[in-house]
Amino acid sequence: MRAVVFHGIGDIRLEDVPNPQLQAPSDAIVHLTASAICGTDLHFVHGTAEPVKPETILGHEGVGLVERAGPEVRNFRGGDRVVVCATIACGVCVYCRAGYYSQCERANPHGPLAGTAFFGGQEASGPFPGLQAQKARIPCAATTLVRMPEQVSDDQAIPTSDIFPTGYFAADLADLRPGRTLAVFGCGPVGQCAILSATLHDAGRIAA
Ligand SMILES: [Zn+2]
Ligand SMILES: [Zn+2]
Repeated sequence: MRAVVFHGIGDIRLEDVPNPQLQAPSDAIVHLTASAICGTDLHFVHGTAEPVKPETILGHEGVGLVERAGPEVRNFRGGDRVVVCATIACGVCVYCRAGYYSQCERANPHGPLAGTAFFGGQEASGPFPGLQAQKARIPCAATTLVRMPEQVSDDQAIPTSDIFPTGYFAADLADLRPGRTLAVFGCGPVGQCAILSATLHDAGRIAA
């Protein structure tokens, strides 16, 4: 398959790489139909974040079709349309059960205190091969995948992989109640998702 592979700062290549395989009964293989570039990827490319291990496939935003699912993935089967969450979460540890998926104690192979496990990131995040590829192995697929309704297009769904929840979280942290005024500093993609999320929270006035 083809994938976007990190080789070093400023050295990103579209290459042929081996197809991903199921490695655990809770894995699924997803054939990606859309993928996106996040500002985090640009930090890796520009060398303004902790370095990525050479030969890591980049990307943590994707939608696609389940190609096959391991025997423990009982909620998805081949052909299902899905959004891939940027962060990988087991769904059963104490943090996952409380809804703090990015603090999952089990998804990161470096142990319970290692922090967020996500696709296409630095050594400390797994590393897990990313989603700027034709296919990807999805660990903990029962939790990490979300079913996509038929009437939602790939382009509509892909922001929910990472960037829209980032803006939503910012609006949520602002403790918005209906009618309140909100100031958003920065109108890039995340800022715009925060503005949209504030309208969903019935903000009164939004200054951006
Ligand atoms: Zn991102
Ligand atoms: Zn967990």
